[in-house]
Amino acid sequence: MSTTPIAYQRCISPTCGATYDVREVRVACGRCGDLLDVVYDWDRAAPPRKLSDLEARWARRREPSCYSGVWRFHQLLPFCPPDQIVTVGEGQTLFQQADAVARYVDVRPGRLYLQYEGMNPSGSFKDNGMSAAFTHARMTGAQRAACASTGNTSASLAMYCAVTRLMKAVIFIGSGKISYGKLSQALDYGALTVQIAGDFDDAMMRVREVCSELGIYLVNSINPFRLEGQKSIMFRVLEALSWEPPDWIVVPGGNLGNSSAFGKAFAELHTLGLIPRVPRLAIINAAGADTLYQLYDQRGMRWQDGAPPMAISDEYFARMDAEQLKASTIASAIEINRPVNFRKCLRALQTCDGVVRRVTDQEIMDAKAQVGAGGVGCEPASAASVAGARLLRAEGIIGADERVVCILTGHQLKDPTATVAYHTTDQDQFNKILGSRGVRRASFANRAVAVPNDLGEIMKAIRLYS
Ligand SMILES: *Cc1c(COP(=O)(O)O)cnc(C)c1O
Ligand SMILES: [Zn+2]
Repeated sequence: MSTTPIAYQRCISPTCGATYDVREVRVACGRCGDLLDVVYDWDRAAPPRKLSDLEARWARRREPSCYSGVWRFHQLLPFCPPDQIVTVGEGQTLFQQADAVARYVDVRPGRLYLQYEGMNPSGSFKDNGMSAAFTHARMTGAQRAACASTGNTSASLAMYCAVTRLMKAVIFIGSGKISYGKLSQALDYGALTVQIAGDFDDAMMRVREVCSELGIYLVNSINPFRLEGQKSIMFRVLEALSWEPPDWIVVPGGNLGNSSAFGKAFAELHTLGLIPRVPRLAIINAAGADTLYQLYDQRGMRWQDGAPPMAISDEYFARMDAEQLKASTIASAIEINRPVNFRKCLRALQTCDGVVRRVTDQEIMDAKAQVGAGGVGCEPASAASVAGARLLRAEGIIGADERVVCILTGHQLKDPTATVAYHTTDQDQFNKILGSRGVRRASFANRAVAVPNDLGEIMKAIRLYS
């Protein structure tokens, strides 16, 4: 009998490659400090023979683990026994052909799709990863869980704690950075909310220290089990396309957990012979938080099979510290200058022959209005994917005939302040929320019409504007 386990953790650095038991709680390699992967012995893990075999689980969707849009793909993230699975019904998402958005991006009708992760129970894609992290936390017997958050990770963590009662939630947020939609969730769900004087990058550094001092389970995307759950976003995209890979996946880049998870998903599917080719990946930064763009696109850093020239990023971060540069964008979910999954993301970009672009807050808000006008809507960070697809199309990198999937990472109602400011007639409000971010115009504003409380005037306005 073989003694190697089916699932274990392994350092992503090929020169180190240290391995750890699947039940160990750690967010970095004990030998070299690099990120960890969850790795499988696929010969013994029994993956599906073809992806369509997974459809059989639909017939059993009364069982929570088959209903879940994460766990019906359990065979592709087999790190836990079935009876340890934690699910609150995440991953019931919407895949939508969006022809109005296709026109905006300038690809042919029928070629642009939106993968709407705002449908998750806490309103963002984070639930995919949280269900996997909670499953792992349960396997390890953790009592408390913590995260640093721009809002959605904390909303998700707080929700899983409240629903499952498995752990107590401790969340770290930067001061004044979190949107009310997200903060209200953490407060409502009863999380201990620690607001520190600083931004996300500060909160992230602190929460790592606190978790290691107090033995609290950390659920940021530095946790490799989170990313196992987030692989399922790609499984659902493939499923919606009858298992045929699209040409492009376009995703906003913040801490780079999603992009890293997508790259791992495609690498594994390809290795297993389950997909004929790997889609290309486009990661979109906000211009005010563009570390990945600077390092990958402008300075040419590449994974180089596990030996990226880290001197380039070391120097970049040293200068960022010296000049005290802080991230700044209306897209608060990606307002991050020190992406914790940077190295994994470089690997994903190699796997998927990826590109990185950055878009301005103006482009983000205009793209968001276009997505909203199409009837789904999203928060600002999510719209970076659509703005980025448009830019890549204008550059001719994305072809008009290619099939493009933009990931809408969070729900429209997460950040109503930004949306209302965009559509407002109140110039002061516009300037305060958006003008301060360099947004000059609301190109697609749908302005409310002010009328006196008079029947004749009201009817006149309706005739005039409709
Ligand atoms: C967390 C988040 C992101 C960033 O995702 P990463 O995996 O950190 O790159 C983007 N959009 C929304 C809405 C998010 O909540
Ligand atoms: Zn290592």
